[in-house]
Amino acid sequence: MTSQSKHQPFSRRSVLKYMAGAAAACPTCMSVASALASEKKVAAVGHGAGKPAAAKGHGDAHWSYGGDTGPGHWGEMSAGNKVCSMGFQQSPIDLRDAIPASPGQISVLYKPTTLRVVNNGHTIQCNTDPGSTMMLDGEKFRLLQFHFHHPSEHAMDGRRFDMECHFVHVNDAGMLAVLGVFIEPGGENNVLAPVWQHMPKTKGEKKVPSVHINPAQLLPADRRYYRYLGSLTTPPCSEKVIWSVFSQPVQASTAQVSQFAGLFDMNARPLQGLHRRLLLKSG
Ligand SMILES: [Zn+2]
Repeated sequence: MTSQSKHQPFSRRSVLKYMAGAAAACPTCMSVASALASEKKVAAVGHGAGKPAAAKGHGDAHWSYGGDTGPGHWGEMSAGNKVCSMGFQQSPIDLRDAIPASPGQISVLYKPTTLRVVNNGHTIQCNTDPGSTMMLDGEKFRLLQFHFHHPSEHAMDGRRFDMECHFVHVNDAGMLAVLGVFIEPGGENNVLAPVWQHMPKTKGEKKVPSVHINPAQLLPADRRYYRYLGSLTTPPCSEKVIWSVFSQPVQASTAQVSQFAGLFDMNARPLQGLHRRLLLKSG
């Protein structure tokens, strides 16, 4: 919570100003941003991305979701991971106590993409073809990939959903923007079906040139969302992510959830403190 009144809606301009200030106040963000000079690098280090087995390196030293290499130890596993334990702008968080505001519109301009599914040992990730973009507060971001967590990473009033999908974008300045979509049990999700059909059971990538999917069809119809500044939810936990998590979940069948859980029973980081950040909810 901040000193600003709960009842005073924040204008788009003040939110942007806040974000600019937060980025400038974070040396880690700036150094990470400059390190991520190429989009290829961003894709490898990006939120939840992990790295393919062949590209193991800095920030990816055998971390996991439990035991001696679990979230409580990420910060001590590498010098580059310190912000995992020391940071005050970490993700995920509980989305309760959000402040009603007008944080700007999200315009998604995704195109159908060839199916390229990666099992990186931490999640199932779909790398997307170039050309899909999103406009966030007037800024253009390019979609790099989307991936999944079980259970959801963000929570609503202490409750986690069955799954969460993260759409990872980057802009020319190296800032990341992630769209989060909760997944609840319900009808079978036809967009996920080909991903689930082809996802590798062990580390590796599968390309299926004959199959195209449109990631926009994984988004909820209601585009109201929660907005805050946070981090990657995996090492190196870099605090350079503009988070937008949609309020409305989409559905997948219990069989689909179970199939993912068969590969990744638990790949969600524990909830982090909000500390002095703004958490906004669009009207
Ligand atoms: Zn993620």
